[in-house]
Amino acid sequence: MFIPDRMYDTVYDIPDTYFTENGIKYLFVDIDNTLVPYEIQNPTKENIDWFERMEKLGIKLFFVSNNGIERVKKYTENLEYKYNADIKKPLVKRYKKFMAENGADAGHSMAIGDQIFTDVVSAKRIGMKAVLVKPIKDKKTAFFRFKRIMEKPFIAIYKSREKREGKI
Ligand SMILES: [Mg+2]
Repeated sequence: MFIPDRMYDTVYDIPDTYFTENGIKYLFVDIDNTLVPYEIQNPTKENIDWFERMEKLGIKLFFVSNNGIERVKKYTENLEYKYNADIKKPLVKRYKKFMAENGADAGHSMAIGDQIFTDVVSAKRIGMKAVLVKPIKDKKTAFFRFKRIMEKPFIAIYKSREKREGKI
């Protein structure tokens, strides 16, 4: 539940083959610190190029954010992708409803985010693949530092598992 299926530095580093080999058709992406830092309101050129890359793979993109509607609306204002703000990860009620409304089944879905206790846990509870990326820029609060410290043992488990399986 706390261990991501894969870890990459950024969303851009996830190879196309990882999506195609897993039969991924639906991608649920966190915004803050996964695509842009908190203070950046709009998608970057790199973000948009990556969205297009995903589209070329036949993947449908969705944004799933714990942040409020205003932030998410602003980020997506010029995009055609659907979103769910204030989705309350790691809870899964709203998340599952959002998936069902969009015809996304867990078996063909993947989540990408920068936090184990929200992004990874919600995805694993739903039964989909979860990719953890490095946070672009963390908030400098004590709470955030605490969360990152709590994530460390799970990242260590992931790394030893990967090493054992000869992936890295
Ligand atoms: Mg995030």
